[in-house]
Amino acid sequence: MDFSLSPEIDGLRLKVRGFIEREVMPLETDRANYDDYENIRLDLLDEMRAKARAAGLWAPQMPKQRGGLSLPLVGWAAFYEEANRSIFGPVVLNCQAPDDGNMSLLDKVLPSEEMKDAWLQPIIDGKVRSSFVMTEPHPGSGSDPGGMMLTKAERKGDRYIVHGRKWFISGAAVASHFILVARTSDDPRRGRSALHYRKDDPNWRIVRRIANMGPDEHGGVCELEFDGLEIPLEHRLLEEGDGLKITQIRLGPARLTHCMRWLGLAKRCMEIAGAYVAERQAFGAPLGSRESVRMMLGDTAKRIHVGRLLTMHAAWLIDQGDRAQREVSMAKIEVAEVLHRAADTAVQLTGAKGYSKDTVLEWIYRYARCARLVDGASEVHQMVLARHYDRLGNDFWRWGA
Ligand SMILES: Cc1cc2nc3c(=O)[nH]c(=O)nc-3n(C[C@H](O)[C@H](O)[C@H](O)COP(=O)(O)OP(=O)(O)OC[C@H]3O[C@@H](n4cnc5c(N)ncnc54)[C@H](O)[C@@H]3O)c2cc1C
Repeated sequence: MDFSLSPEIDGLRLKVRGFIEREVMPLETDRANYDDYENIRLDLLDEMRAKARAAGLWAPQMPKQRGGLSLPLVGWAAFYEEANRSIFGPVVLNCQAPDDGNMSLLDKVLPSEEMKDAWLQPIIDGKVRSSFVMTEPHPGSGSDPGGMMLTKAERKGDRYIVHGRKWFISGAAVASHFILVARTSDDPRRGRSALHYRKDDPNWRIVRRIANMGPDEHGGVCELEFDGLEIPLEHRLLEEGDGLKITQIRLGPARLTHCMRWLGLAKRCMEIAGAYVAERQAFGAPLGSRESVRMMLGDTAKRIHVGRLLTMHAAWLIDQGDRAQREVSMAKIEVAEVLHRAADTAVQLTGAKGYSKDTVLEWIYRYARCARLVDGASEVHQMVLARHYDRLGNDFWRWGA
């Protein structure tokens, strides 16, 4: 069993690390570099993205012939973890949610190179941003998209006509390409379909950008209304009724890339807290010499390692052609907790400074709260794991009975 990274992946990882430390982290300290929603200013982002592309650190999840790096998933894991040691890192290197999940999905399911040129390439090139449109406000569907989805795409001749409402759609206010999951029949298994459309298509609108507790992605999280949006049949992804399949194809790797990024953020929390307690004196000794402080640091370090093992194992399984459903669920539950605990511990150890905006800790702390909700709440993943356990018994752990 070899847990090491290949020399190529490790070399790339070190390049990402150098770029993030040299070019991106210094931007975090000046509030003038932030937009109104606490993300990197868009004009500055363009400048930084040009630097990232020139350094060969761009869209690691995409094929080389389309401008990416053709990495296996374990390579993504190393790259993403280094990228998100800075809160601005992923978006600078074009490996941020939701675009990275949308790009991977479109690369897998679009049927021709011409369609990829039209719908995927502009996202890879950083010319447009994209959104994945599934969740609905009450009484529509949230955790259970197979259940209560109310947004309907009705087939009329050569097109679908869409009516309904969605919300919490990341990036919608800056996106140009949208992937929509809507109800096409009442069949519980085959009643959802995925369709793509463009920003300028008529008969839909952004109702509002939803104010929330987090620092926001570019384009925020938005509520959308569809009032007769027309989507040609050829803009359906896979077959009619494959909406839930599309969701699974997208969310498996997309959930895991969240974990990869969150490990980077968790490590950054430890770095900031570790540096603080090494220097800060109280009651005649550095804080970092107190046993209770050392236990907090040791425990957080251990949790990050557990999270990384789960993430890397799931990534490795996917690289072997496995869907790794239960491994992805385990990683998602665990790493969301790891991030939350790391941010909370780091704020605690850093005292008032951790509560201030002088470091990125309070940003990460607020952001971390959405980790247990997005792409499946932790409880839903636990429910899924229990189903696997019911079915597999001791084979749940894969070495077989
Ligand atoms: C910052 C952010 C960005 C998002 N971006 C997107 C996006 O780009 N596109 C998109 O489509 N959606 C997006 N979402 C929505 C997200 O995927 C949903 O919030 C998530 O799937 C949960 O759905 P819900 O909010 O409707 O919760 P609900 O389904 O209403 O569930 C509420 C709570 O009930 C509990 N629960 C639910 N089911 C079970 C169960 N079976 N057993 C036990 N407990 C359960 C969980 O604790 C859950 O948190 C985003 C959400 C956030 C917060």
